[in-house]
Amino acid sequence: MQEELLRSEKLSAVGQISAGLAHEIRNPITIIRGFIQLFDQKASSEEEKRYYSLILKEIDRVNQIINDLLNLASPTSNVEKVKVNIPNKLDDLLMLYSSTFQNQHIKLETKYSSNGAYVWANESQVQQVFVNIVQNAIEAMDDGGTLTVEAFEDKQANMLTVSFTDTGGGMDEKTLKNLGTPFHTTKPNGTGLGLVMSYRMIEDIGGKMKVNSQLNEGTTFKIQLPIVQNG
Ligand code: ADP
Ligand code: MG
Repeated sequence: MQEELLRSEKLSAVGQISAGLAHEIRNPITIIRGFIQLFDQKASSEEEKRYYSLILKEIDRVNQIINDLLNLASPTSNVEKVKVNIPNKLDDLLMLYSSTFQNQHIKLETKYSSNGAYVWANESQVQQVFVNIVQNAIEAMDDGGTLTVEAFEDKQANMLTVSFTDTGGGMDEKTLKNLGTPFHTTKPNGTGLGLVMSYRMIEDIGGKMKVNSQLNEGTTFKIQLPIVQNG
């Protein structure tokens, strides 16, 4: 009972309302999107087509906000956790991005000093955290660049460090200071929710995330996660 209380405390009232609202909004949005697509296919002029594609873009933006809110509101403490092989997870995820990297002239470098480091976590949340960070790196390198992903073990501290370094535009002090503040974004289409969720999830599994950034040079996100023993 007491444990239940603690758990629900962690999922704040705002989070619960967001999650409920997000689900309710999703269904009508899907229906609206379907109809707009239909109209778009039947459109008779270029002008009309342009309007529909604008509407579709904005609907997709609403969907993105809803997804980010849902991720943020989903509990981190009472979800199913398993042993996640982090280097494998990274490889799977980075493979999904290979065509994006190619199209955007981003060179990927991976350096893993450990192949069998496991972390006790929820698989889809780990994936979501990595997606948030990789997506931000891609968005920061709109003129191309290099993304370096590293994973190494500190055997003494029993921690796994995963770092993501991009050669993108970097952040100014104000942005750095506001990292992790909900809705703080410097992007016209950003939600400012990705890193909020990432910080929460990492903290929940006993990890830490540090950021280093130089304006016009690039950014490094360094995540430290506690390793669970193999077997
Ligand atoms: P969003 O991407 O929707 O803006 P995030 O929480 O993912 O929200 O990021 C918040 C802000 O942090 C971004 O708007 C951006 O200003 C900054 N940021 C995050 N990652 C990077 C990065 N790799 N390079 C430069 N700026 C970044
Ligand atoms: Mg983001």
